[in-house]
Amino acid sequence: MSDNLFETFAARMHDRGDATFIATREGRHYSYREALAHTSRIAGALHALGVRPGDRVAVQVDKSPETILLYLACLRLGGVYLPLNTGYTAEEIRYFLGDAEPALFVCRPEDLEAAQRVAEETGCPQVATLGTQADGSLLAQAEQATPFETIEPRDANDLAAILYTSGTTGRSKGAMLTHRNLASNAASLVEAWRFSESDRLIHALPIFHTHGLFVACNVILMAGASMLFLPRFDVDTIIEELPNGTTMMGVPTFYTRLLQDDRLTRELTANMRLFTSGSAPLTAETHQAFEQRTGHAILERYGMTETNMNTSNPYDGDRIAGTVGTPLPGVEIRITDRETHEPVAQGEIGMLEVRGPNVFIGYWRMPEKTREELLDDGFFITGDLAMVDERGYVHIVGRDKDLVISGGYNVYPKEVEQVIDEIDGVVESAVIGVPHPDFGEGVTAVVVREPGAEIDEAQVLNSLSGHLAKYKQPKRVFFADSLPRNTMGKVQKNQLRQQYEDTYAKAR
Ligand code: ATP
Ligand code: MG
Repeated sequence: MSDNLFETFAARMHDRGDATFIATREGRHYSYREALAHTSRIAGALHALGVRPGDRVAVQVDKSPETILLYLACLRLGGVYLPLNTGYTAEEIRYFLGDAEPALFVCRPEDLEAAQRVAEETGCPQVATLGTQADGSLLAQAEQATPFETIEPRDANDLAAILYTSGTTGRSKGAMLTHRNLASNAASLVEAWRFSESDRLIHALPIFHTHGLFVACNVILMAGASMLFLPRFDVDTIIEELPNGTTMMGVPTFYTRLLQDDRLTRELTANMRLFTSGSAPLTAETHQAFEQRTGHAILERYGMTETNMNTSNPYDGDRIAGTVGTPLPGVEIRITDRETHEPVAQGEIGMLEVRGPNVFIGYWRMPEKTREELLDDGFFITGDLAMVDERGYVHIVGRDKDLVISGGYNVYPKEVEQVIDEIDGVVESAVIGVPHPDFGEGVTAVVVREPGAEIDEAQVLNSLSGHLAKYKQPKRVFFADSLPRNTMGKVQKNQLRQQYEDTYAKAR
């Protein structure tokens, strides 16, 4: 394997020739040979627009196979790929362009005017659409451009991408990821999950996060496998495609939604060899229900923008519900006290820290934040609280920022949520801490009821006594139709904390 991620991909693509790399349900199809040729042409167009090694290429376009070709073209040129969430507004894009200072911003055709304005304001020299039809689009220019056939030399420590974090706990930060980071992670996932040329991945994730882009596409490229590119997750489509796939990478909501459909059976999934889950916690209930219905134990893994994948349940061996498995090869973890930063005893909860070739080199233009979180000895403070059990499996307990400290006691929201979720008539819950005049923070629950269930606040509170120590019990329970989630199924607790911040202030 080369230090240069694209060199590794190109060698693989060359070998795989006419094998399918990427296909859509609408019949668009790229063999590896075609995809490789397209990367030279698109790289030619990028080069003509002034993109040079080390330049950032910011991209906010809809999911399509051509977006992946653009990603690869950028790597061929030695550029730094910088995908942006398609949900971001022009206002948000202004921040990202100002922060990243890309040489080129690739946008959707319908956003072109707004994009040009924002580019002008932020000093971004070039804007283009990706587009298949529109004249002047990058793909149209690629047809005319002189192909860029060489591969710009890159070192293992050169940047391959800047990926902004999801912004669950605050403003998104640009994680700087090197060729080594991405190559090492893809290689270890191919091995850990036994990807081979005969695999066909059902790809229904967005491609502006680490999950859909690096975990999914890099692994497929590294394995020389193929993927079916779906614009989004849709139960009917997945049900139709499951017999044609071998693997699916998903987030927990994919599985809870599939389970609501009676067509999900053992027969339907007989051709599949692997279902993975990550980005947010998978409940033991979903894990068990899926296994009962299909015979497949979902393989849960844990990672983040800054580190790619850290841990995974085993391919062979026990996939334990409620855990994220053990560290991937080459990845080290340690659990430390959140205040003293000293390692805690095995079995105790603390801050999860991680070190390895997968760990990023810092936040883009945030040297202080980088120094705070990336320690001198190479460990990165993930911000997640975790415990390692006697078998070495990691249990993610929750985010440090979501920990509730009430009357001096630590309350782990997940523990309380699990008890609430067991109550008849409850679908799910989120437990948060909001300012409380006596306790510092008051434990507060937001509960989603089953349709027609009439359970009220007092009944929820009554069901908890005897199951949870008094200090862990919510002081108030609120009901909501659903929990606020982003596209990856992450509950947006910041939003809930804001919504309920005056709960105890008013009570006084
Ligand atoms: P920000 O850092 O901007 O607040 P974010 O942490 O949500 O946003 P990501 O890098 O997309 O941004 O998400 C990584 C986080 O997702 C992890 O730190 C962890 O909290 C959570 N996560 C990922 N996989 C799992 C999992 N299997 N179980 C529980 N949590 C998970
Ligand atoms: Mg984070």
